[in-house]
Amino acid sequence: MEKKQFQAESKRLLEMMINSIYTQKEIFLRELISNASDAIDKMYYRALTDDSLVFDKDSYYIKVIADKDNRTLTIRDTGIGMTADELESHLGVIAKSGSLAFKKENETKDGHTIIGQFGVGFYSAFMVADVVTVISRAVGSDTAYKWESTGADGYTIEPAAKDAVGTDIILKIKENTEDENYDEYLDEYRLKAIIKKYSDFIRYPIKMDVSSSRLVEGSESEYEEVTEETRINSMVPIWRKNKSELTDDDYEQFYQEKRYGFDKPLKHLHVSADGAVVYQAILFIPENIPFDFYSKEYEKGLELYANGVLIMNKCADLLPDYFSFVKGMVDSESLSLNISREMLQHDRQLKLIAKNIQSKIKNLLQTMLKNEREKYEQFYQAFGRQLKFGVYSDFGMNKDVLQDLLLFTSSKDKKLVTLDEYVSRMPEDQKYIYYASGESNERIEKLPQTELVLEKGYEILYFTEDIDEFAVKMLQKYKDKEFKSVSSGDLGIEADDNDKNTDAENEANKELFDYMKNLLAGKVSNVRASKRLRSHPVCLTTEGEITIEMEKILNAMPN
Ligand code: ADP
Ligand code: MG
Repeated sequence: MEKKQFQAESKRLLEMMINSIYTQKEIFLRELISNASDAIDKMYYRALTDDSLVFDKDSYYIKVIADKDNRTLTIRDTGIGMTADELESHLGVIAKSGSLAFKKENETKDGHTIIGQFGVGFYSAFMVADVVTVISRAVGSDTAYKWESTGADGYTIEPAAKDAVGTDIILKIKENTEDENYDEYLDEYRLKAIIKKYSDFIRYPIKMDVSSSRLVEGSESEYEEVTEETRINSMVPIWRKNKSELTDDDYEQFYQEKRYGFDKPLKHLHVSADGAVVYQAILFIPENIPFDFYSKEYEKGLELYANGVLIMNKCADLLPDYFSFVKGMVDSESLSLNISREMLQHDRQLKLIAKNIQSKIKNLLQTMLKNEREKYEQFYQAFGRQLKFGVYSDFGMNKDVLQDLLLFTSSKDKKLVTLDEYVSRMPEDQKYIYYASGESNERIEKLPQTELVLEKGYEILYFTEDIDEFAVKMLQKYKDKEFKSVSSGDLGIEADDNDKNTDAENEANKELFDYMKNLLAGKVSNVRASKRLRSHPVCLTTEGEITIEMEKILNAMPN
């Protein structure tokens, strides 16, 4: 038997690849299962044009078999198989992808479900195996062949026996070392978890022999170990199902299975975009604030799948910061992945998807605000702060997206109102949107500065969070109405007439006011008579842009 050698460069390439492309060893299983799924897909496409083949979906499967005694892990498929030539060219030539070629040849026949493209995934098996043996029988062939390699040293091909068409990939799992545990790749629970994590939505059943103990029939206390062939993957992802077939419970269960949160989702959105970008997504707004939400530890992001295979756990680029509370996943067929399939090659598609998702979330919130006010207010209690931060950050770039989603407590009935609601019920002579800042609604109500505005029958928005005033400073206006603090020196109210008709009083009390000014030197810049006060004898006002409340916050901020 002739032993064929990799060329020197290929040897290095293989070593490099095995040790540096992938960040986690466990993905070898994702790669081998993806290949198995591709092989079955190819059977399906072949059957479309070859009348002698019938594609009976039930006879196609992938099976993962762990043999602890012999330290082997086998990935079996009933797919198209490989001829001796194909073993040589597909597994003997690094970076040659038979699957990519197949996709190109079959372009008209919608080959988009095929996952492979780089021709390197197979070699990831060497991250966990000393020897990889491939026994394959191609469709339409009577003979099977065995390909075997220990990695960098080259490979052998020889005839072998195999009853059914398809491929067995047999890995001789490495012995544990001081820093690496390889035994886990023979452990049933661990294997099940890896399959669930990366390959849950492979369209063909992935089976394993799963052992469990159960009561011996007829006995009440005697147990026996039984092994049953069990399907591990869910196959059809919920996001590919028809929305009309799904209930709120289904989405809630998905939320819990995926551990997006320990709470329930407040609202979900199922997207199937078919336009400029094709993707499916399921997005959730959680009911409660995650415990670390307003801390640095919190990581925003959505799960990212390419064609049903998990690529990234938390893709941050899919969510703007102001929607960082959204949980869920995105699956797309049109992503170009980098060679490890852990990252994206170009972010153009991703940017398009992100933009699309951003407007979907905005619409979802807006619809909720319109039709489910109570639910929206519940959402807003939890995450409204994040929206206000969104208005303020990025130099107000996002204010158009966010301004209609804001709510503030109004002096009228102490209810939450939108800016639109406020403006639309402003009396005709009201020029500004008035607000008052303070620690709490109760404190604000007692402010002498609010009296005149309220007497005029104008509403006041109560700002009780630090961010509130900064956010409206960024907005400047809403529907051409400027925001104005009730403690501003110029309220724009006629009765007040900017306190200009107080000249006589100021003149008459000049001595008293000067005395007070001296007494308060460095604390106030002026003392004068005012007409804005009703029940209170005195109040503080500001001149210019920065209000007293903002000054307090700015002074408290670390430099
Ligand atoms: P990719 O999947 O990106 O093409 P791989 O290194 O994973 O690259 O696999 C290389 C090629 O080997 C595949 O394109 C395919 O032609 C062939 N191959 C691998 N595994 C199988 C299998 N189980 N059945 C049939 N062909 C396979
Ligand atoms: Mg592959």
